[in-house]
Amino acid sequence: MSETATSNASQVPAVEGWFTLDQNPHLIGSQCPSCETYVFPPRESACPNPACDSDELKPTPFSRFGTVWSYAENRYAPPLPYRAAEPFEPYALVAVQLEKEGIIVLGQAPKGILATDLKVGMRMQLETDVLYREDDVDYMIYVWAPAVQDEVVGGAK
Ligand SMILES: [Zn+2]
Repeated sequence: MSETATSNASQVPAVEGWFTLDQNPHLIGSQCPSCETYVFPPRESACPNPACDSDELKPTPFSRFGTVWSYAENRYAPPLPYRAAEPFEPYALVAVQLEKEGIIVLGQAPKGILATDLKVGMRMQLETDVLYREDDVDYMIYVWAPAVQDEVVGGAK
């Protein structure tokens, strides 16, 4: 992936290589080819499994669904070098256990979803959201949103 396709959408990931920015965004993690241990965020160093002596990890697409393991609400802007939208709005941080991989991945909830909207065990799906905008470029992050149910509640979106 040495070249990024140019499109009209001026969206770039705020963190490169952790997730995709397509219709059905998903996380990109790492997996040990030897013992199959999953790692997120992705890295290429040695396998974290102490019982395994593999010294490489391979980039692996992760499933985009999981369940809420824990969550918290952040009412204060994160310290530098982190960037937050201004004015700062409280947001929920969600720890989600991935359905397939079983590991826990921390992420923000989308704007407007706060702790009162979340429950342990709730099914979540990965989405992307604008973290901040600068020079007409939207810097995107992945967020954990409540999984879309069969029945769509509400009207136009
Ligand atoms: Zn391993």
